[in-house]
Amino acid sequence: MHLRKRVLVTGGAGFLGSHLCERLLAKGYEVLCVDNFFTSSRSNIEHLLPNPRFEIIRHDITFPLYLEVDEIYNLACPASPIHYQFDPVQTTKTCIHGAINMLGLAKRVKAKIFQASTSEVYGDPTIHPQTEDYWGHVNPIGLRSCYDEGKRCAESLFFSYQRQHGLDIRVGRLFNTYGPRMHPNDGRVVSNFIMQALQNRPITIYGDGSQTRSFCYVDDLIKLMVLFMEDESGFCGPLNMGNPREFTILDLAQQVVKMTESSSEISFKQLPTDDPKQRKPDIAIARERYGWEPQFRLHEGLAQTISYFRKLLENDDYQ
Ligand code: NAD
Ligand code: UDP
Ligand code: UDP
Repeated sequence: MHLRKRVLVTGGAGFLGSHLCERLLAKGYEVLCVDNFFTSSRSNIEHLLPNPRFEIIRHDITFPLYLEVDEIYNLACPASPIHYQFDPVQTTKTCIHGAINMLGLAKRVKAKIFQASTSEVYGDPTIHPQTEDYWGHVNPIGLRSCYDEGKRCAESLFFSYQRQHGLDIRVGRLFNTYGPRMHPNDGRVVSNFIMQALQNRPITIYGDGSQTRSFCYVDDLIKLMVLFMEDESGFCGPLNMGNPREFTILDLAQQVVKMTESSSEISFKQLPTDDPKQRKPDIAIARERYGWEPQFRLHEGLAQTISYFRKLLENDDYQ
């Protein structure tokens, strides 16, 4: 017999997943972390292993999984463009077969299930800021489509399982999030710029740096994720999850160089195809429903992240 809530976190060893596991353990739950370590390593969750309420299973969610749980957070999926374009077919399989398996599991055990969707469902958006009712502007055959269309199809599956089988779903659209435990070599802009600055290597700006992103610190995002999951009002999203403060990539580069007191120079590289020109969430729904507001300003979150990467470099323990 189980009295404690048992929560499954897929992708639990990843950047966001490891912070989520930590938060759920702190709430007193039993946490089952499922991961195939495609873009992560055990080091992200090593500190959780001594906790008797924490368990880790090496498993690829494109294959069926039979467990008894009360809640599922489906985060498993490579998230950085370099990682998700490395094996695009596997990325789409993870998004779609993974979603079907986790939805099948949720259906069998009657578990509530959260999907980590993405602002990429909006593609290169033609409205700004992006509201949840915007249908998006995605190139269905471009290099990013393995991820964008995979995540769009996963959203469709979540709503079909809700309508057809009465599943209790939550769909959150995550915008760019950063913080400690991002992979140092995953190619995302925040990790790239900080690693380059700390090593006094050139800061690689793709294009002229005028494209924008809105960066959310991991603690703020995880707080909203749990609030949303715990909402029993019947609201299932989609919900924009991110920080609406928008910066150009050039602003970000300059801020990182300043904060690290780096001698790095800026080096302009070619802009990848289909790179969205602007991105900023409209977070009115999160504000109204949960009174949620990001607490970390960019320089505060960057300070935490810089100190994490500095330690990695000092210990020489990154691949
Ligand atoms: P991450 O790469 O650090 O974590 C993803 C985790 O999923 C890794 O531990 C990886 O090994 C695991 N994984 C990948 N494929 C798997 C599979 N088939 N089976 C089991 N495990 C698998 O990325 P993250 O930033 O922590 O992202 C987590 C989730 O949030 C992803 O679904 C991503 O699409 C979504 N998201 C993240 C952001 C962001 O800015 N960080 C933005 C939008 C959406
Ligand atoms: N599934 C799973 N774990 C479970 C139940 C189902 O991994 O506990 C997988 C199973 O492989 C199935 C998929 O989820 O293919 C979808 O399940 P569903 O019940 O919707 O469909 P069906 O079993 O009818 O194909
Ligand atoms: N970018 C950059 N230099 C880098 C890595 C990324 O200029 O070294 C740019 C990238 O072209 C994009 C933005 O930063 O415009 C955010 O890229 P990231 O890969 O972090 O996320 P996404 O494009 O998925 O928002």
